[in-house]
Amino acid sequence: MNSADVIIIGGGIVGSSIAYHLTDAGCRDVIVIERETAQGKGSTGKSMGGVRAQFATAINIRMSMHSISFFSRFDEVMGHPSGYRAQGYLFVATTPAHLEYLRQNYRHQVDGGLKTVHLLDAQDVARIAPELRQDDILGGSFCSTDGFVDPHSVMTGFTLKAIERGVRLMRDTDVTGIKKDAQGVTGVETSRGFIAGRTVVNAAGAWAGNVARLAGVDLPVEPLRRMLVPTEPFDKVSHQSPMVVDMGTGFHYRPEGLGLLLAWNDPEETPGFKMNFDRGFIKKVLTRGVDRLPCLEEAEVNPKRAWAGLYEMTPDHHPVMGPVRDLPGFFLANGFSGHGVMHSPATGRILADLILHGRSDLVDAELLGFDRFAAGRLLHEPVVL
Ligand SMILES: Cc1cc2nc3c(=O)[nH]c(=O)nc-3n(C[C@H](O)[C@H](O)[C@H](O)COP(=O)(O)OP(=O)(O)OC[C@H]3O[C@@H](n4cnc5c(N)ncnc54)[C@H](O)[C@@H]3O)c2cc1C
Repeated sequence: MNSADVIIIGGGIVGSSIAYHLTDAGCRDVIVIERETAQGKGSTGKSMGGVRAQFATAINIRMSMHSISFFSRFDEVMGHPSGYRAQGYLFVATTPAHLEYLRQNYRHQVDGGLKTVHLLDAQDVARIAPELRQDDILGGSFCSTDGFVDPHSVMTGFTLKAIERGVRLMRDTDVTGIKKDAQGVTGVETSRGFIAGRTVVNAAGAWAGNVARLAGVDLPVEPLRRMLVPTEPFDKVSHQSPMVVDMGTGFHYRPEGLGLLLAWNDPEETPGFKMNFDRGFIKKVLTRGVDRLPCLEEAEVNPKRAWAGLYEMTPDHHPVMGPVRDLPGFFLANGFSGHGVMHSPATGRILADLILHGRSDLVDAELLGFDRFAAGRLLHEPVVL
């Protein structure tokens, strides 16, 4: 009978990072189960790849700082590129309230030890992003170590290193059941048969709620569609530009290939497994985009190159990590609410710590525990991009 010390359900960037970090801590009897024939077909392959430490909560700042430092050493440690480009994130404020919000966050970020973040006045913003319509800009904030990674490459790097160290990856294998006895989980039923194991990790991304249900656990993670629109080659904006976020509308963009990648979180989007790209979104994103970045008027987009994917939202927009108290051996690494790529190194490390030692010195993992929902101990992160 097939068995493993740790069974990970989901071979995206999160499951891969957990597998790698387990091996790094000496645990090599690990199976990663992925239902698709190739990895990355979930949210990982759809991501914008943004990485930032400019968050509002101490725990998000901590996870980002650890992860960004990890990305900066990734190529050396993994022997595989992460595609990390430290081009920064520029938040642009057009109201006193947004400026005050950035000031408060800045204090939290500096208190957390972040040295590369700066508050900006309107002239600084114009220097960093001269292409923007400047007339109503009051200021902003910029962190030079924020930037982008290549999510698919990061996932592949984690996987290859984990496999080199003995981890088994089963593709084209659907987990259809989670078995338990009085002591806790005993293994998983799959489309290729039963796999025995006393530790099972849910790393199923936007499908985490369905996987948790297989174990009788009611996990509040909802899929929410997000859409991205790449432009055709376009040189009116520097390819060294940071990710620029217009806080007034939520429109944001970054360089991608020879053009730009455009994003906007449509507040009218409703939860559900909607994976199709809605062509009506192009007009919505371009309207906001041209308003802040007038030269976009001259850019061309090809609807066939645009795509949609799923965020995995929790009620407080923070991940759920760690054990489920009522079901020993069942661990969660879910609900990244659109930040799962940037937080994948920290997540892998925290999960490996919790599985092997019951605690992590990277963060106070209790804060992210499953129990917080029933206990009403929610966290609050206002800016989900
Ligand atoms: C448009 C878009 C833009 C984004 N931009 C960013 C960004 O800029 N920065 C950032 O940090 N994050 C971003 N994200 C979010 C990020 O992509 C996710 O948080 C991250 O990829 C989650 O990784 P994961 O491994 O948990 O999930 P996934 O990559 O979805 O992997 C989960 C895997 O589990 C598998 N699975 C599910 N159920 C089963 C089962 N029963 N049996 C076996 N396998 C199963 C799935 O096939 C899937 O491969 C973005 C997401 C989208 C959609």
